Amino acid sequence: MVQFGVIAHGGAGSSEELTDGVKMAVETGFKILESGKDAIDAAMETVRVLEDDGRYNAGSGSLFRMDGKTIEMDAAIMTSAGSLGAVLAIRNVKNPVLVARAVCETPHVVLAGPGAGAFARRGGFRSFHGTSRKSRGGFLKTKEMAEEDRQERTNPGWKGMGAGKLSTDTVGAVALDMKGVFAVAVSTGGFSPMMVGRVGDTPLIGCGFYAGTFGGVAVTGLGEEIIRRMLAGHVYSRIETGMDVEAACTNGIHLFPDDVPVGIIALTRQGFSVCSNRGMAHYELLKEV
Ligand code: ASP
Repeated sequence: MVQFGVIAHGGAGSSEELTDGVKMAVETGFKILESGKDAIDAAMETVRVLEDDGRYNAGSGSLFRMDGKTIEMDAAIMTSAGSLGAVLAIRNVKNPVLVARAVCETPHVVLAGPGAGAFARRGGFRSFHGTSRKSRGGFLKTKEMAEEDRQERTNPGWKGMGAGKLSTDTVGAVALDMKGVFAVAVSTGGFSPMMVGRVGDTPLIGCGFYAGTFGGVAVTGLGEEIIRRMLAGHVYSRIETGMDVEAACTNGIHLFPDDVPVGIIALTRQGFSVCSNRGMAHYELLKEV
């Protein structure tokens, strides 16, 4: 049985070389749990460390949109104790996950676009305009693909876009605290290529994340396909009805054709699962009894 712990990923298709960053983030989250603090703080801090790393497609490492200059990010946080907050297409903040956490304290559960940005400013989150080598690199890769095929550039559908070739590097974490509360936190700069204004699965409840009394689920991969299948909810409902966590995640992955990158992490009191049809940097620290 898991007494408390945290598990995190660096995105479906992320390279193993990114495991060190995930490990560092998980160690931060685990220390928070060890000190008796709440799962929501542990999940949030784990994701914040990953947002600040710059190598993941989240926070400081978020990818540019198709215009080559705009960064918009999505993040969400949820607990089995009823907290829920998300920001969609937020710009110019360093840590979207912290803003999502702040949304939990409002009467609302989702804030989007300029309103989310204004909320962040009012809450004291300073304006941040950092772009990393990753932001630029992802855009150049997309541009190269678009130049190879003009039709794909003018019609930004996913089919034939080579999405399976791109890594995603979104981040997510699930934590269980000593009081038995589960929390999930997720954050992304989206999926390349993407239009300005596009929102993926990551900040949508039941699609990119879910937390309930039976566990927490965080999902990564091609958002448009994940939303169609409400993946996090699909996996959670199987866990809830008694399916083993590993079987529930495998079942979720099998909903997707092989050319759609997808990854899932899930944590329950009985154990955890890391499942992906690509490589996926991940790490976990659990205290078992
Ligand atoms: N799911 C994210 C999105 O589509 C991307 C990812 O997981 O890497 O926005």
